[in-house]
Amino acid sequence: MDNLKKAAELIMNSKYALVLTGAGISTESGIPDFRSSTGYYSKMDPMEALSRDVLNNHPERFYKEGYVILKDLYDKEPNAGHIALSELESMGYVKGLITQNIDNLHHKAGSKKVYEVHGETRSIRCNGCGKNSDFSVMKEKVEKGEIPPKCDSCNATLRPNVVMFGDMMPPAFEKAMNEIDKCDLLIVVGSSLTVAPVSYLPRYVENLIIINDGPTPYDRDADFKFSGSAGETLAGIVEELKILKEER
Ligand code: NAD
Repeated sequence: MDNLKKAAELIMNSKYALVLTGAGISTESGIPDFRSSTGYYSKMDPMEALSRDVLNNHPERFYKEGYVILKDLYDKEPNAGHIALSELESMGYVKGLITQNIDNLHHKAGSKKVYEVHGETRSIRCNGCGKNSDFSVMKEKVEKGEIPPKCDSCNATLRPNVVMFGDMMPPAFEKAMNEIDKCDLLIVVGSSLTVAPVSYLPRYVENLIIINDGPTPYDRDADFKFSGSAGETLAGIVEELKILKEER
């Protein structure tokens, strides 16, 4: 029996499977990740450009470098990997999805129970009055040269609803931890598992499937590790699950 089929069996026999995704699931949608050879690290240091310090103390630099990463996510579309994960949820095999991504593609693909532990790029908020607005409000202001963009109500600086390096983790992370308590199988997709505290999550689960082209610190602990394309592997697993379902 090949590993794709064995992994599908592990998913089918699990009681509470969760998915954890990272930037690697979205490279097939044309969004660079951080650590591949073509990733953002080859051009800049995202840990600085997307930091709370640069956003608050050097906003011109933030809107020149970090913000460019965020605005480029705006019109991207989900790929076969996002669609397969949404299908795994609707088939009942996956109970929820924790994502480090901020590109909204799991939502666009139809996943329902999504924990966006690093925030999202659908909305923004005001640093002063806390008012939330659509991301397009910030986009329009920056395109008109309003840097940093200001709140129309209180004139304080607007910021993306993204967790910057140096920010506290949002409430979604605590919810994700509660889910991990119930989880017996974690399927990691497209993450180098190097950004804390998310990188600790695989420690708490019994079974682990890793779908990631590059190495992770957990490869030796995994029941199955698949290198290569996340989209192809996930579509293959969905196919195997459909066959297994018919056989039972
Ligand atoms: P990472 O860049 O550290 O790791 C991505 C991993 O995905 C790499 O190991 C790479 O080999 C693998 N990969 C790339 N393309 C793949 C593919 N097609 N199939 C299978 N594997 C593939 O990303 P990370 O672990 O998510 O951590 C970095 C941080 O970057 C996260 O906090 C995340 O929020 C942020 N980020 C998000 C986006 C996004 O929202 N799309 C993009 C870039 C960075």
